[in-house]
Amino acid sequence: MTHLVSAPLPCPACGHLADAEVPSSVNAGRSPEVRAALLAGRYLARTCAACGADFQPEPAFVYVDAERGEAALVRPPADAPAFEHWERVTERAFWGPARDAPDRWQRQAGRFALRTVFGLDALREKLLLWSAELDDPVVEVLKLDLRLRLPALRDRPLALRAVACDADALRFADAGDPATLVVAPRGRYLRLLAERAHLATRFPALFGRPYVDAARLAVD
Ligand SMILES: [Zn+2]
Repeated sequence: MTHLVSAPLPCPACGHLADAEVPSSVNAGRSPEVRAALLAGRYLARTCAACGADFQPEPAFVYVDAERGEAALVRPPADAPAFEHWERVTERAFWGPARDAPDRWQRQAGRFALRTVFGLDALREKLLLWSAELDDPVVEVLKLDLRLRLPALRDRPLALRAVACDADALRFADAGDPATLVVAPRGRYLRLLAERAHLATRFPALFGRPYVDAARLAVD
């Protein structure tokens, strides 16, 4: 089930306020249409009644898919600089109750992938990687690797999002250059995956904290 709350939503283009329903929590196991819309990049997409601009609101909510063992605290992109705070909120929200819960729930909780994400695009990327059975911390290291190899990525904030995972390649959209996809051969991902244990000691924050995003390391 998905819990909705009413909220006035401002259009990012003209500021027009419209009443809308946004989620406070999503149980994707019971709302498969929400997961499908998230993966398609059209969840909550709307058109401003005043100026006609298309936009996607950025609500804050809790995402849980018990069947797949996936959970995330979703915050608006503007909250990303305070990621350490939101990681603590994420852990309290999910592990707090679990710690006091019966053993069965505790065993279940230990199997969950728990993430803090900023923005629907970031949540979509996690769902995409998990559905392709890719290891998201390793994919974040792959982004750092791509940045070292591609001069065009080096001089600006790291803003790659996986948008397609095929048998032969992973494709990333680059917020700094939306017209061009950055393509990484799957073999490069597999080579990093083989070094996972080493990478986890080299980048502990990517492998042990809920905000699994190379942007947390690429602040320079
Ligand atoms: Zn508008």
